[in-house]
Amino acid sequence: MVTISSANTIDMASSPILAIRRGVSRSVARRIKRLLGKLMPHIPMKHALVVTVVPGNVIQTPSGKRAFGLFRASGNGIEICIAGTPIRNMTTIDDIERTLCHEFAHYEQFRDGRRLQERGVKVRAENLRRKALAA
Ligand SMILES: [Zn+2]
Repeated sequence: MVTISSANTIDMASSPILAIRRGVSRSVARRIKRLLGKLMPHIPMKHALVVTVVPGNVIQTPSGKRAFGLFRASGNGIEICIAGTPIRNMTTIDDIERTLCHEFAHYEQFRDGRRLQERGVKVRAENLRRKALAA
């Protein structure tokens, strides 16, 4: 279920590596793994990318903000990180899936040489999730 690979084994443009950190529930891990597999036919990859799901309701971004997810391209590689614990009575695994799709929409901006911005991302993320879950 959990795939972790060191950076020097990643082929360019291969499927993303999924890393589920200890403390993420099995139900979230299962749903994210399934969604990722169903998303891939809709998102041509041009880069190696690592998706990390961490326990907790939010993550802290490098700039110190709290967020549900993060897309980052840096010297350490290209990564998506998402918070893997729903907020009780507030968010659900569906929302965690939406966050994953949101960050992949940012990856598409990066892949296509577009500016990373929120404009259009929400709509694209919903379209990606709908397409994936219809498959
Ligand atoms: Zn965003």
